[in-house]
Amino acid sequence: MKLSISEKFRDPDLVRSLVEELQSWEKPVKLMEVCGSHTMAIGHWGLRKLLPSSITLLSGPGCPVCVTPYSVIDSIMNLKDVTIATFGDLIRVPGRNGSLEQSRARGLDVRIVYSPFDALEMAKKKETVFIGIGFETTSPGVAYTIKQAAEKKIKNFSVLPAFKIIPPALEALADDKDVSIDAFILPGHVSAILGSEPYRVLSEKYRTGGVVTGFEPLDILNGIRMLLRQIQEKDPRIEIEYKWVVHKDGNPQAKAILDEIFTVEDSLWRGIGKINRSGLTIRDEFSDYNALKKYNLTLPEKDDFDKGCRCGDVLKGKIIPKECPLFKVKCTPENPIGACMVSSEGSCAAYYKYEE
Ligand code: SF4
Repeated sequence: MKLSISEKFRDPDLVRSLVEELQSWEKPVKLMEVCGSHTMAIGHWGLRKLLPSSITLLSGPGCPVCVTPYSVIDSIMNLKDVTIATFGDLIRVPGRNGSLEQSRARGLDVRIVYSPFDALEMAKKKETVFIGIGFETTSPGVAYTIKQAAEKKIKNFSVLPAFKIIPPALEALADDKDVSIDAFILPGHVSAILGSEPYRVLSEKYRTGGVVTGFEPLDILNGIRMLLRQIQEKDPRIEIEYKWVVHKDGNPQAKAILDEIFTVEDSLWRGIGKINRSGLTIRDEFSDYNALKKYNLTLPEKDDFDKGCRCGDVLKGKIIPKECPLFKVKCTPENPIGACMVSSEGSCAAYYKYEE
């Protein structure tokens, strides 16, 4: 019987032989899966349980909702008489004055969209602000939407820019003496845009290797095998396992539109703090579409509201979710204290769903 492509990447015999090979690994190593989709895939396929105790997988900062500061939610709630358009997960993330979902129940016009183009359509009827969160995977689509708004002279549309860039966050982790990571499982989707070159600093300056990996069981296990080989050979480098999707130079069209509409700036990551040159804001030429300027909003430099949530330590790989005292006690998907329990890509949500 002919196997489909996805079945080939889940072939039990191949998985078994890879797991047997990985089971022989003895030296303790800590590998960080940077991307929230990897965290979910690892949980969904039960891969953590197939690995020997010598291999620890830690979740990283690649969950867009988890790293969006409280201040983004707080500031957007102050806008009246506009439609606030957002991707789904963010609506349940608590800010200082509750979540956008709770504000919607009190009358704020908050709508979930699946694409920034939906928000642009809404703007034809009513002033609309789109909350621009996410990494290099989502920011090109938002950039293109802003360009469309400018070309069509749609003035009722703006974006609150809170985009993040992954490589500087990984450099900050590699540079943090309190964080111990032997190698990175690098994100597949982000790298399809960026390519693998921006990660070279990790191996060249910090001697920490990485493999860009896909999301099927064989992808992830093979990515882990490639990282272990690097560690064994004492030769940290940046490699691509996800070769049919990711090229070392990335996607030139997507990078060009990012560069046309956005410029790099320092950025605040929820629970982690400010990271140099790790965010994107809208260029002055397109400032009519920058909600921060349009509504005179400012985002604070610090985000110090935590209610005991240790999301920051989870995102840095310092603890696993189960080590947070609130995990499953006060913090559950029904009653999330922190963003890592809200998001469908959050590590606490993944542990709650799959690892317990
Ligand atoms: S379990 Fe809840 S409170 Fe603890 S780190 Fe995760 S999201 Fe924060």
